[in-house]
Amino acid sequence: MNTAVYVTTEAAEDAVRLLADQGIASDAHEEPANAGTLGVLRVGDHDVAAAVEILTKSPGMAAIRCPECGSLHVAYPNQPDASPTAALAAKIAETLHLSERNFFCHECQYEWAEDQGALVAAT
Ligand SMILES: [Zn+2]
Repeated sequence: MNTAVYVTTEAAEDAVRLLADQGIASDAHEEPANAGTLGVLRVGDHDVAAAVEILTKSPGMAAIRCPECGSLHVAYPNQPDASPTAALAAKIAETLHLSERNFFCHECQYEWAEDQGALVAAT
């Protein structure tokens, strides 16, 4: 079970290197989103807290942050599943405009729509 952190595609590879320097294994891939393409960074569950802390403190690291508490530890519930059945169901929901594609914050439980999910750079 991995946890994903959503960053810009440009930032995704930087984030992988940054985490590797700290001894944290992660991988990045691109995923289409309503607002463009997101870089999805996957980190093992036991490394999530450390990874989020490192990325939160990294200047210029643009990532999807919770609008309420600023946490990077957010979920994107409708991301394509590995299961063909789930992928098909998601495709149908998308075609019928049923998919809300909301983000969800693990820290404060806040939920928000993707088009409100600004990529905010740490300063
Ligand atoms: Zn939050």
